[in-house]
Amino acid sequence: MRIAVVTSPGEVELRDTPVPPCGDDDVLIRVEACGLCTMEAKLFAGAMPVYPVAAGHEVSGRVERVGEHAAALEDAPEVGDLVTADLLTRCGACRSCRRGDSAVCESPQGGSLPDGTITMGAGLAEYVRVPASQVWPVGDASPVHAAMAEPLACVVHSLRRAAFRTGDRVTIIGAGYMGRLHLALALHLQARSVAVVETDERRRELARAAGASGAVAPEAVKELPRADTVFVTIASSAAITTALSAVADGGRIVLFGGSPDALPATLPGYEIHRRQLTITGSYSQEPEDWRVAAQLLRGKALANQLDQLVSGRYPLADAHQALEEVCGGQAFRVYVGAH
Ligand SMILES: [Zn+2]
Ligand SMILES: [Zn+2]
Repeated sequence: MRIAVVTSPGEVELRDTPVPPCGDDDVLIRVEACGLCTMEAKLFAGAMPVYPVAAGHEVSGRVERVGEHAAALEDAPEVGDLVTADLLTRCGACRSCRRGDSAVCESPQGGSLPDGTITMGAGLAEYVRVPASQVWPVGDASPVHAAMAEPLACVVHSLRRAAFRTGDRVTIIGAGYMGRLHLALALHLQARSVAVVETDERRRELARAAGASGAVAPEAVKELPRADTVFVTIASSAAITTALSAVADGGRIVLFGGSPDALPATLPGYEIHRRQLTITGSYSQEPEDWRVAAQLLRGKALANQLDQLVSGRYPLADAHQALEEVCGGQAFRVYVGAH
């Protein structure tokens, strides 16, 4: 089968590799679509120099083969089903995994192709093989929407970390792809209001058109109603200062985007105390989040919103161009595959 491998910054090779063997506990999937996320962008741009690497962890596809033991699973996938799959395997053995907090697994396992290429998802390929327990059928959702299951599961996780309840007021900092998924889910779950704070005017307009109750630049954050929960979806410590202005007393701030800057050494301790604020992190997703995301996709409740987030589609042979578009910085999500 063909697989796209990033061999050095800015270089992608289409290589031939054997179709992975499907063990008794596995499912073999013919990939329909693979979304390109910041991890792939960092590998391609050289910000995460691990080469050669087979990336791509946001996939959907049709089940080609099902291992013998897989039939015993709840929601067992069958040949021909459209599915999405968790390709980033957790160890199952560390303290975090044993507590059920597998998002913070201490040794998430990678792998390699027969030629030694490091795998980080390896979804930019014609087939992926995955343990059956990490496969989620998504009914007749569109394959590109189905490939949004992984980031959507991350957002389900984020709302769970926020203890979100219907009727809450929400503010989202950053209206890029992950911010927009937060917007879509919070609207679907009937937040009282969902506002966004975003520096880019075009993205503010798009968020308003998608149903945001308000969309302002960071300087104007005080114009928004104070929020029960503020989701920080961009990677910047300035956004945390904005979040402190956006949150209501007693509210929560969820740090969803990974900040490259060190947090200011002095936390506003008195403010957190006096205003009874909760500041928490949200990283990755867990099986429970996949279950919810798969159902949201099956039910197509978010289909309209998800359509707006597809910026480009490329065949596998044009993976290089697809990665260039992602690194251009304007795209929401770009898809590679047969779809
Ligand atoms: Zn991702
Ligand atoms: Zn673990």
